Amino acid sequence: MNVDAYLDPKYGIYDYLMEQKKNGRIKHLGFSTHGDLACMTKFLEAYGKDMEFCQIELNYLDYKFQNAKGKVELLDKWNLPVWVMEPVRGGQLATLPEDAEARLKAVRPDEGIPAWAFRFLQAIPSVTMTLSGMSNMEQLQDNINTYAENKPLNDEEMKLILDIADEMIARTTVPCTGCHYCVSKCPKKLDIPFLLKLYNEAMVAGSGNFIAPM
Ligand code: SF4
Repeated sequence: MNVDAYLDPKYGIYDYLMEQKKNGRIKHLGFSTHGDLACMTKFLEAYGKDMEFCQIELNYLDYKFQNAKGKVELLDKWNLPVWVMEPVRGGQLATLPEDAEARLKAVRPDEGIPAWAFRFLQAIPSVTMTLSGMSNMEQLQDNINTYAENKPLNDEEMKLILDIADEMIARTTVPCTGCHYCVSKCPKKLDIPFLLKLYNEAMVAGSGNFIAPM
């Protein structure tokens, strides 16, 4: 459902949720979104005062690529705890290009590659819940071992993992800044930056999850 429908009083969504909260059927009210910063801002300005948490896609690849950093900062302003979906981007961050894995192993020889995704999240103070998305016993055991210790990335490690993310994105995407200069020149009136955004997301997702940015 589009954010505008949530905000339209004719659907009675807000009133319904408030009533369920008053009746004790909802203990804690929060929201989950794949929306961009503008969409989240619009929603928070309307309902933020009643929200208790927010779930977003957050991982080191999307920190810049989908501006997850900006979303965390926005939620921090609202004092909302961050719940994380796609911490390993549908399994995409469980294995990395060979050279990237070697650089990570050189810094933390005992840490598995998937664990870097969780150590990254441990370095973000407002993250209080992570939906790990484990699909077999081995991943479950691996995840339990990782979370047995709190070992957040330090500043240098954070820079390293974000540099690697930049390199992974640069390998497959078209560097469109979204300036829109080309749009008025397109004889077919295409929204070129939006189409490139979709193309880039599909390229980064590869055979993994593809969620169209809004
Ligand atoms: S493709 Fe269009 S919107 Fe993207 S950077 Fe080039 S001119 Fe700007």
